[in-house]
Amino acid sequence: MEALVWLGGDRLEIEDLPSEVPKSDETLFTVSLAGICGSDLHAYRGSGGKRVPPLILGHEAVGRIPGDDRLFVVLPLEGCHHCTLCVNGQENLCNERQLLGLDRPGTFAQEVVVPTSALVAVPEGLSADVAALTEPLATSLAAFKGLELGPDTKVAVIGCGSIGLLAIYAAAFTGAQVVATDPMTERSEAALELGATSVVTSADDFAAGSMDIVIDAVGIEATWGAGMRAVRNGGAMVIVGLGQFSGNMEIGDLVRRGISVRGTYAYTRADFEAALALLAKSPPAVGWLERLPLSEGATAFADLAGQRTNAVKILLQPVGSSD
Ligand SMILES: [Zn+2]
Ligand SMILES: [Zn+2]
Repeated sequence: MEALVWLGGDRLEIEDLPSEVPKSDETLFTVSLAGICGSDLHAYRGSGGKRVPPLILGHEAVGRIPGDDRLFVVLPLEGCHHCTLCVNGQENLCNERQLLGLDRPGTFAQEVVVPTSALVAVPEGLSADVAALTEPLATSLAAFKGLELGPDTKVAVIGCGSIGLLAIYAAAFTGAQVVATDPMTERSEAALELGATSVVTSADDFAAGSMDIVIDAVGIEATWGAGMRAVRNGGAMVIVGLGQFSGNMEIGDLVRRGISVRGTYAYTRADFEAALALLAKSPPAVGWLERLPLSEGATAFADLAGQRTNAVKILLQPVGSSD
């Protein structure tokens, strides 16, 4: 089978690998489309965390299984099923969690063996391109967890990569007034398409103290600071971007203005299923998605990493996929 193998650093190569044989609780999944995520790019840029090459990256996928006419999406994260967090449905925070494309071979391949429990059927009529957004949307939905959103809520989204864009879409669906920021024209256009009322080029342009909720989908010192200034007294900032691991934040401001700051990582099965249901109920505009053959994956990574492409989100399509 055709696979895009990461060999470390910025080296990616198409290889012809033997098919894996699934164990009794696993299924051989045929990939129709696999999205390139910011975290795949982290590995490519040299901060892959626990990823050890050679490895097939990728954790976002829509595809098919033998003997079934339906499309499926893969829930790529699995907890240990035993710890308190897993038992309480917070498997995204499990210390033993496993992720496709990190702890086991990922989805940039014609086939991938996945736990059978990871397969979630796509509602009939939903296109493969839209279904491919389930995983990033689940991350965006999880960012809003515990926060009230409605027509009077003012939300700012910093950074319009897929997680930011899908946060805009999810917030706009509730009727919230969403403003966004991104310096790239294509991303700003996508933000407006997905329901943002305005897009500014810098987070410093948000009026001070004007937002109920700020979603920081970039996650660097500058955006933590800009987000804190934009949020109202008593408001909330949720950091979902992992652009920087440590740095300064105005804790005095946070205390005196009673601001809640929370980090969020990935999603639970419930978030994942909610994401798929939302996509089916109100399919978003997908003009910001671009399909490329898996064989062009290395070029796609190089272009995304070097910002040489206008593509906001690239979906890789293995040879033989007809979805
Ligand atoms: Zn992802
Ligand atoms: Zn666990």
